[in-house]
Amino acid sequence: MTNQPDASTLSLAERLGVLAMTATVRSVEAMSPSLSEVTLDVPDIAIGGAPGNDVMIAVPKPDGGLARRRFSIRSFDPEQNTVSFWITTHHDGLASEWLRSAKPGSVTDLVGPRGKIQLAPLADWYLFVGDISALGAFYNLAEAIELPGKAIFIVEVPSAQDIVTASFDEGLGVTGIFVERQGREPNDPEGLLRGLAAFEFPEGEGHAYLFGEFKQINAVKIALLDRGLTTEQLSMKAFWRQGKANQDHGEPDKTPEL
Ligand SMILES: Cc1cc2nc3c(=O)[nH]c(=O)nc-3n(C[C@H](O)[C@H](O)[C@H](O)COP(=O)(O)OP(=O)(O)OC[C@H]3O[C@@H](n4cnc5c(N)ncnc54)[C@H](O)[C@@H]3O)c2cc1C
Repeated sequence: MTNQPDASTLSLAERLGVLAMTATVRSVEAMSPSLSEVTLDVPDIAIGGAPGNDVMIAVPKPDGGLARRRFSIRSFDPEQNTVSFWITTHHDGLASEWLRSAKPGSVTDLVGPRGKIQLAPLADWYLFVGDISALGAFYNLAEAIELPGKAIFIVEVPSAQDIVTASFDEGLGVTGIFVERQGREPNDPEGLLRGLAAFEFPEGEGHAYLFGEFKQINAVKIALLDRGLTTEQLSMKAFWRQGKANQDHGEPDKTPEL
């Protein structure tokens, strides 16, 4: 690969103490109406990091310059030197639009691996709650659970056609509750809270991962604390916020009320 990352990509990566590189799109494949698998050829597979990590992808802004958007690693292949992401492409946003038009050979700058959330060691069960934007991160984390183990997914999807499953190793007990949105707003927590209410915590010590829309996962956090989990048993990350583009460094606005 001969492309050099943009100067702003290089200085950002230096400041964060992570890698900078230019990647080439190998494929973009629709997995469901709302979710696509994006696979990039990368010059250094270390960008794949550990389960739970993400990568900042640079997307051009209409008025010039670059915005960064963060996407979780779904998988990486050290033999092919590729990393894959599961990305929602049904909304109008810089990254979503860029991906809808990306073709094999399109290039983008990457900064990463990013993120502090990793798989909690030694939990008896792992609960993953959020929307379809979190599915790639959830499945990547679940694949790292030591066997025998338990993974429970409670995921809101825009429609039944967006239910995308994965196959896990024998020895991982998997429960999946997919909640159809049925016309509710994407930041309405009602569906996830109903899914959660239908689920009885297994025996032992659990750890919960809450990734997705800001307002939804904040409501889920309160519900889980009410049911007796401690903050140490929660790993939470707002991925996006309804009605507001993520900031240029890739994080959603976290002010309590917009
Ligand atoms: C650490 C981290 C990891 C992430 N991992 C993933 C991942 O693996 N897969 C993934 O799909 N996303 C992931 N996200 C979320 C993704 O970065 C955001 O959705 C981002 O806003 C997309 O950028 P955009 O330019 O398309 O939209 P933006 O320009 O940020 O937003 C434009 C408009 O689209 C809306 N919007 C943004 N995202 C969504 C969405 N998912 N559904 C509906 N409307 C939306 C906004 O509210 C806004 O109104 C992650 C975010 C973080 C912080």
